[in-house]
Amino acid sequence: DDRRVWCSEITRRIHEVPDDFEITVENALQFYREGYSRDTITAAIQTAMDHGTPFDLELQLVTHLNHLIWVRTVGKPANGAHPCTKLIGSVQNITLQKKTEEALKKAKEKADKANIAKSAFLANMSHEIRTPMNGILGMSELLADTPLADDQKEYLGIMTESGNILLQIINDILDLSKIEAEKLDLSYADFQLPVLLNTCMASFQARAKAKQLHLRLETGPDLPVWVNGDSTRILQILNNLVGNAVKFTDQGSVTLRVHVEGTLSGKTLCRFEVVDTGAGIPEEKLAQLFQRFHQVDDSSTRRHGGTGLGLAISKELAALMGGTIGAESTPGKGSRFYCTLPLLPPAGNYSQ
Ligand code: ADP
Repeated sequence: DDRRVWCSEITRRIHEVPDDFEITVENALQFYREGYSRDTITAAIQTAMDHGTPFDLELQLVTHLNHLIWVRTVGKPANGAHPCTKLIGSVQNITLQKKTEEALKKAKEKADKANIAKSAFLANMSHEIRTPMNGILGMSELLADTPLADDQKEYLGIMTESGNILLQIINDILDLSKIEAEKLDLSYADFQLPVLLNTCMASFQARAKAKQLHLRLETGPDLPVWVNGDSTRILQILNNLVGNAVKFTDQGSVTLRVHVEGTLSGKTLCRFEVVDTGAGIPEEKLAQLFQRFHQVDDSSTRRHGGTGLGLAISKELAALMGGTIGAESTPGKGSRFYCTLPLLPPAGNYSQ
């Protein structure tokens, strides 16, 4: 309160003042850069004096030798007494840290821009590739309806299968780049949940039968028939989970279990579980599975193919829909993948 200031040698050096320079409250404030920095420190000191409020600020300061630097200024009442008559605090030169922060920010902005450009490029390329791919697949389908010798049929079968795999990979990349660019829109509509579940089961029936696996659907008694949601994306998640279970199970069964877990602000929380009796996944690999391009081991990839994108996409889709996804597994016994999704009641009136 007597406007006197005592400064340490280091504080004087930060301000670059000559030995005979006397620092006072008034000229100390003048060191702060005019405008935001000076206004902020002046107000902070006043509030600290009036109410005992401490402050911790990052501000700009112009030294006696006219250098513009960044400082962290910390202050508080010296003895906690009220009214406050004395403040103590510290000044720290943080110019280097600020410069580093600035450089980091610029580097991040640059990397973000490059990433956005990459996603846009991937999305465009996948789109461009899809068109001729559909031409190839469409023509293969027509060709299959013409008279062909047995070996020609076999070649055509391989060609069609490869084309379908390629199309799946391209679709996955397109989905991921859309998600990254935040351009994936969900389209909500009324649909019948049992129909969706049966569609999913039906598409894996042949593959399961070929491997002599029991493919089962178990639904809870309280499951609603009509719901509102993005059925295409829900089916995409289920297809991925059931598809993986069939792919990585050599004997036993694959079961899709669906039940209502509860309700949340008018929505039905549906839990979808895919349980298999396959090879299982080691504990330490479980968490990584939902990251892009991660597969449990390279040898299984060589055996089963795949891109390692399915679960990453499923996770992003579940999150977009306000749901969660996860997995637990006992190596040698099997795995359980689960996904909980909130489903809206149908917009229309249907007899259940
Ligand atoms: P992809 O199937 O194309 O490799 P995913 O993201 O769907 O990609 O799966 C990633 C990896 O997770 C698989 O390669 C596999 O190693 C492992 N995985 C997924 N589901 C199962 C399962 N039910 N049993 C064993 N391993 C699984």
